Amino acid sequence: MTLALFPSCVLPGCTTPVVHVGEPCEGCREVFGPMLQSAAGPALTDEQITYRDSTTRSAYQVQRWIREDLR
Ligand SMILES: [Zn+2]
Repeated sequence: MTLALFPSCVLPGCTTPVVHVGEPCEGCREVFGPMLQSAAGPALTDEQITYRDSTTRSAYQVQRWIREDLR
């Protein structure tokens, strides 16, 4: 884990910096438009986002290893 000056966008896979933890970046707001809606509860914390995305990051890493092995 690395420390960052700004938190990343809340959407999985997007690393664009944002001002507040749990908010989407402007690019995701523009791309997803009205499909992107606020959750009914409080915004996710940094720890919750890290936990939620851990399996996605692991899957991406495995895909990278497979692609590198196929070269
Ligand atoms: Zn984003």
